[in-house]
Formats: sequence, C-alpha cells, structure tokens
Amino acid sequence: MASGEPNAADAPRIVRDVVCGFCGLGCDDLEVAVTGRAIVPRKACAEAARLLARSDAPPPSPRVNGAPASLAEAAAAAAGHLAAARAAVISGLGADLDGLRRLFDIAMAAGASLDHAASAGLFANLERLARRGWIAATLAEVRNRCDLLVIFGEDPTRSYSRLFERALPAARAVDGQSADGIAAPLFAPDGRRVVMIGETFSAAARSALSGHALTEIAVPADQVATAAALLSAALADRDVGAVSGLPEDAVAAIVTLAGEMKAARYGVLCWNAATLPPEDAAAVAGAAAEAVDRLSVTTRAAVFPLGGQDNVTGAHQLALWRFGYPLRTVVGAGMARHVPELYATAAALKDGDLLLHASAFRPTPPPDFAGGPVIALAHPDTVFAREPDVFIPVGTPGVDHAGHVFRMDSVVCLPLSALRPAELPGVAEAASAILSHLGRAA
Ligand code: SF4
Repeated sequence: MASGEPNAADAPRIVRDVVCGFCGLGCDDLEVAVTGRAIVPRKACAEAARLLARSDAPPPSPRVNGAPASLAEAAAAAAGHLAAARAAVISGLGADLDGLRRLFDIAMAAGASLDHAASAGLFANLERLARRGWIAATLAEVRNRCDLLVIFGEDPTRSYSRLFERALPAARAVDGQSADGIAAPLFAPDGRRVVMIGETFSAAARSALSGHALTEIAVPADQVATAAALLSAALADRDVGAVSGLPEDAVAAIVTLAGEMKAARYGVLCWNAATLPPEDAAAVAGAAAEAVDRLSVTTRAAVFPLGGQDNVTGAHQLALWRFGYPLRTVVGAGMARHVPELYATAAALKDGDLLLHASAFRPTPPPDFAGGPVIALAHPDTVFAREPDVFIPVGTPGVDHAGHVFRMDSVVCLPLSALRPAELPGVAEAASAILSHLGRAA
C-alpha cells in the first residue's frame, strides 16, 4: 500500500512505497510528490517517471464524433455501435483486472475477439509452454538462489531498467539488508555470474551488476536462436562442431558455458521474446526450456521469460480463468474459439467491422483501422490519427484509481493505490457504463 505523509496545507504530499504497474517488474518502492492533481515523481525509473507525471490540468471530457459528451452519452453511443457490429475486435487491453473483467463482459455480450497490445512475446513463449510446459523461476527465486544467469538477445535493462537491481542486487549486505534496503538474498553467493548471448552489456547494466562476474558472447540478433540451440545441444552432449553461421569464438564460449551451467547450483535462462526477431522468438524460448530440461537431471535450473507490460500477464490469466483459452480468442453467444492466427489484433482487424481499444496505462493510440467505428477507452493524452467515433478518457490504475495487476512471473498480483483524486472513470467504470446500455441497444 502506498503511504502518505501529512504536510503543510500548500506543500506537496509525499507518497512513498508506490507500487508500479507499468512494465510488469512490479517495483514497489517508488516515491512521488502530489499537489492537488499534479504528480511529480521523486524516485522512479525513467519509464515510470514519464508515465506517472501529471499536471494539474483538468482532464478532457468524453467525445462522440469529436463533440464533447457526457459519460452516459458516450457509453450509449458505444453500445449502439457494438450492438450493430458483426465482428467486433477488442484491442489494447491495457487495464487493471477489474477493467479487464468488464471488457471481457462486453466481449461476451456483444461478441468480440480479444487481444492485448503486448501479447506478441507472450504467444512466442506459449508455443513451447502450451505444448510441453517448462520449469520457470519466480523473481524471488532468481534473487535468492540464482548463481548463473544467462540472457539471450538484447540487454534487458532497455525494457526493464531495474531488472538487475531487483533480481541480482549488487552486494550482499550488511545486517541482513542488501544495497536496495530490502532483505538480502538468502542463498545466492556474493559474486554471481551473468552471461549475455547477443548484445553486450550497457553501461547501466554494468553499473547495476557491479560485484558480479560478467561475460559477453557477442552474437548478431539474427543468430541468437542458433546460439540458444547450440547451448541446448552442448548440454545434451551432442556434436556442435558444424554449427553454421556462428563465429568460432562464440561456439567455443557457448560450449564452455554449457559445462559451467552443469556445474552451477541454480542456473537461469532469460530472454525477452518481444524484442527478439519475431521469427526466432519461439525458437529461443524452446531452446531455453530444453536446456533447463537437460540441466534438471543433475542440478537445478529454470527459465525466466521477461514480459508483462501493461498487465498483459493479468489479461492472459483472466482469459484462461474465464474462457479456458488464452488471448486471441473470440467469445460471444455462449462460445469461445481460440485461433491465434485469426484473432491476433492485426489479423482480426482485416475482417472486423468495429474496434474497441483500451489503453489506460499509456497514451497508445488504437491500431490503424478503417473498417468501421472506433471506440477508444484511452489515456487522456492519447493523440489519435483518426478521431474515434467514441472517445472515453480513462484514468490510470495506480495513479487515478486503485486496482490490481499481475507481475511478470504470474505469481504475484500487485495492489495499486490511487495517488490523486480521480476525475476520470477507470476502464471498469467506463466499460460498465457501456454494458448498462448494451442490452437496451441490442
Ligand atoms: S522498472 Fe518497471 S516496474 Fe520498476 S519502476 Fe520502472 S516501469 Fe515500474
């Protein structure tokens, strides 16, 4: 829970231990200064600071066909469009769990396909996870137990700037406290080993990982999947002498790494499927999971896939609970049909005749769509290439209202608190208003 401090009447209210719901890493130690409706971040990564900052300006009103409208009028107009649609597409899904529940209710009432803006990486990982499963570590296990972390692809601090600070704190601590003031890692050695296969470490990553042994195996982005397959093959003691394309020194380094992983107490393989070449992401996930299968015969190992932006993990979990299928599923008329190739947003829009786009965490506009009406339940700062037929500005979970989002490792549901008086409805309230008109519009 965020905690506030009373201050003089005109002084900012300092709120500490703010939980962040933006990237999926789930940092819970942010700090902001709140004056009226204005928010100035004091302790946050650059991404969170950008997305938390707010001015005191009044929010925009809903619009119907570009003209100001009340929430009820906008909801009624949206319901009218939904009732007339034959193939509605719900995209974005950037919302807390309550908002997602109500969006899913709309999909079931009106009939619609569902996909999240950040689900491409998730589906690359599901190619392996859904078919054969894998052994995955939690963030706490990485922090407390991992002694050898292998990362495929890009430097993860580009997308998750505090990953190393949270997962591999630099120093074992003093008096049971680590450098970040949280309980020190329980079982991990002081100096851990971190290996990048792909990019080299950025200066920020090197700084966050000071105190650990770092190794770089530089491999072009389009050969990371080959390198991952090579590592898996080396762990299986297969002949890797004739791997095409990879530099000889990279092959030798990966073979050496395989031996070190066998000797490690808890090796972890990590990648961000969203930033790997799309045609290779599933192969990297598959090779990493296979490597863990090999290692698990003699030691402990796990995968740790990165992801989770804008509560995509929550949307995935909720779809499984509600429908028994992941996202990229069409629902309605008492049925659910999961066909990822048809119901990924870009594919669904080819046959769609209505787009409902929800993005409460950041001002991401709807995808291009000219096949029918567009309804946007969107961040108030969203800049639209095409004015939506219905625009309902919504508040941000963890800024304007409380809510829950899932952390990237799926095991923790994070409670977000409101930081300022809400003047905008949340996605749940906006979607509920649409639902209340939907029966009447049908
Ligand atoms: S790293 Fe992610 S969870 Fe942590 S503060 Fe930044 S955006 Fe928020």
